[in-house]
Amino acid sequence: MNRSRWLLLVAIAALLVAFFAFDLGRYFSIDAFKSQQAAIDAYFRAHPFQTAAIYFALYVAVTALSLPGAAIMTLAGGAVFGLLWGTVIVSFASTIGATLAFLASRFLLRDAVQTKFGDKLAAINRGVEKEGAFYLFTLRLVPVFPFFIINLLMGLTPIATRTFYWVSQLGMLLGTIVYVNAGTQIARVDSLKGILSPALILSFVALGVFPLVAKKIVDALKARKVYAKWPRPARLDRNLVVIGAGSAGLVSAYIAAAVKAKVTLIERHRMGGDCLNTGCVPSKALLKTGKLLATIRRAQDFGIRAAHAEFDFADVMERVQRVVKTVEPHDSVARYTALGVECIAGEARIASPWSVEVRRADGATQILTTKAIVIAAGARPFVPPIPGLAEIGYLTSDTVWNLRVLPKRLVVLGGGPIGAELAQAFARLGAKVSQVEMLPRIMMREDPEVSAMVMRQFRAEGIDVLVDHKAKRFLRDNGEKVLVADTEGREVRIPFDEVLVAVGRVANTAGYGLEELGIPTTKARTVEVNEFMETLYPNIYACGDVAGPYQFTHTASHTAWYAAVNALFGRFRKFRADFSVIPWATFTDPEVARVGLNETEAREKGIPYEVTVYGIDDLDRAIADGDAHGMVKVLTVPGKDKILGATIVGEHAGDLIIEYIAAMRHGIGVNKILSTIHIYPTLVEANKYAAGGWKRAQVTVGQMSVLEAFQAWGRGEASLGRVLGRLPALVSDKRKAYAPAHGIAATEPTP
Ligand SMILES: Cc1cc2nc3c(=O)[nH]c(=O)nc-3n(C[C@H](O)[C@H](O)[C@H](O)COP(=O)(O)OP(=O)(O)OC[C@H]3O[C@@H](n4cnc5c(N)ncnc54)[C@H](O)[C@@H]3O)c2cc1C
Repeated sequence: MNRSRWLLLVAIAALLVAFFAFDLGRYFSIDAFKSQQAAIDAYFRAHPFQTAAIYFALYVAVTALSLPGAAIMTLAGGAVFGLLWGTVIVSFASTIGATLAFLASRFLLRDAVQTKFGDKLAAINRGVEKEGAFYLFTLRLVPVFPFFIINLLMGLTPIATRTFYWVSQLGMLLGTIVYVNAGTQIARVDSLKGILSPALILSFVALGVFPLVAKKIVDALKARKVYAKWPRPARLDRNLVVIGAGSAGLVSAYIAAAVKAKVTLIERHRMGGDCLNTGCVPSKALLKTGKLLATIRRAQDFGIRAAHAEFDFADVMERVQRVVKTVEPHDSVARYTALGVECIAGEARIASPWSVEVRRADGATQILTTKAIVIAAGARPFVPPIPGLAEIGYLTSDTVWNLRVLPKRLVVLGGGPIGAELAQAFARLGAKVSQVEMLPRIMMREDPEVSAMVMRQFRAEGIDVLVDHKAKRFLRDNGEKVLVADTEGREVRIPFDEVLVAVGRVANTAGYGLEELGIPTTKARTVEVNEFMETLYPNIYACGDVAGPYQFTHTASHTAWYAAVNALFGRFRKFRADFSVIPWATFTDPEVARVGLNETEAREKGIPYEVTVYGIDDLDRAIADGDAHGMVKVLTVPGKDKILGATIVGEHAGDLIIEYIAAMRHGIGVNKILSTIHIYPTLVEANKYAAGGWKRAQVTVGQMSVLEAFQAWGRGEASLGRVLGRLPALVSDKRKAYAPAHGIAATEPTP
């Protein structure tokens, strides 16, 4: 805190101390005022301007310092100056005083609060930036919270001072009039209670309800504006039309059918979308074969003298397709039709907010009218405009599944989860894989040591991990395909047989009516939705990859719930999509799973944390399985049993992380994980040992010193006085008792 902040703080503190020390509050009561009223009236008659000026200054001081007494002063204002002038003086004095309190809070506290709780306040900040004036107006009208609290809290938000001033003045005006008016009757009023008659309370309730009604009116006006061009048909055939039958669309349709809505699901390609056909399912099937081959190669580690695998790549890819076929019925037309969903194969286009045109697979066109629409059109692989790429031909996660001949040399462009999973799978199947990533490490979203663990394993398996390599162009040289990449200012040539482009995915936002309806997209090129997954049109929702912000199957289902429920029941109640605890996993070997913050993000956001790491190389079951590698890394609030995030690297990390996901989701701390019985010997015990590491790191030298004296007293070697004499150390010596040990490392809180 700088000098001027200190000075202001000391000045405010001194004034507050003086107020309470001299019991100045006794002058702010009806009785005190009444006892002096005659004298004040006489002074006012003799010196009207001075009286107004003194009153004004006093009022500003009381509100600026957040002292109790503003209500009495308002009544007094009415009693002395009458309704008109009382209202004018009080209105300006209270608003100026409130603004001074607001500015003081902003000057003294805002930076510190925003730095410390920035991420938690992000939603509030966004809300205040967008609708701060409305919120403030509501709070001013409804005297549920004391005004001084509103002044101080609003100072911590990004609301503009000018907005705060005028909204406060306007919002408090009605209340001011009511109180000043009551003050004019002060001779007949004995206490504050007397003013709060049922009629008055009712009028405050009405005032409180007014902004909510006003918001509904504003929303209705906004909706009228967006719908102006689109006449609503008199009759709507359906409650919901869902565009796209991937993870998001299927869940939306399922929910709608479950609540007996008439719902139509339109899919232009294959039911199940990416996840089933070209994403999660085939990739995990392929990884399994890769894992088996890797285990066979390590046969000697398990006491088997020799083992080798004979296989044909085409058979492996056929097995992948068999897996897809086996899962397919879960997402099939037959299943969804039986659930009560009308399924149409065809290309959908939103013709108006109330109608969707379908070009059916059989060539016919059909118009469906509907009360609401859910867009679940998914995403597709992003293909960067690198010179020569289109000419040379490339694979993506959409087309790689058609391969039946293993490329001898495969370039994987991209170090994200999809690139990393497929690079390892193809390398294990025997391809010479070069993974090209322009950033300094692969899996950039994870902490550096996590990337390092994966990269180490990749390199050990023969993958050429080329980080800091930027693909510049593709060419053919003597019939050979070559990628030219830039690294450290020089060009390197990487010859290859096939290139798999896995540099990210873009949402499908074009060609199905968004442009015509003017539905905007975001900077990330997803459909713009609000916290309810609602687009510009209150009856059109979007979810899954097309809306983001995450691109996973489980987040697609998660957002689909909000989209479907809000689309069907939003008239009565809307639910805000909750992104507070989002987990994910990358199914490389070692597997990487995360929930909440990692260290990199905590540092970027300035969130203080304590980190506990448990090395899985120490875990009995992992040793027995021959998989003794990886870690559980947990971030907690310094000195508190609150989990900020967890990262797990190792076998079945995606399964192990569930314990931390559940803990975070339900506000459970590390202590509870520690006190849960974990079956021995299992991999999930790693979670418990990490929790144990955290617990150990909380023990202070002071606590140990008291314990030591207590035990000595128990043995009769020390007096009770020695135990009692050590008690102050509980408070005074908070040094950590245990140095970081192998496998259990606790760092100091990082600022
Ligand atoms: C290789 C790979 C591996 C992955 N692994 C995982 C994983 O392990 N775990 C995980 O959680 N996620 C994984 N994902 C991501 C996951 O597949 C997606 O997040 C998920 O499929 C998104 O579902 P969605 O319903 O939003 O979109 P999609 O599944 O893409 O479905 C959208 C559907 O809409 C249809 N459609 C689009 N426009 C129209 C139109 N105008 N008319 C009719 N139909 C239309 C499309 O044909 C498509 O079927 C992986 C992705 C890939 C590519």
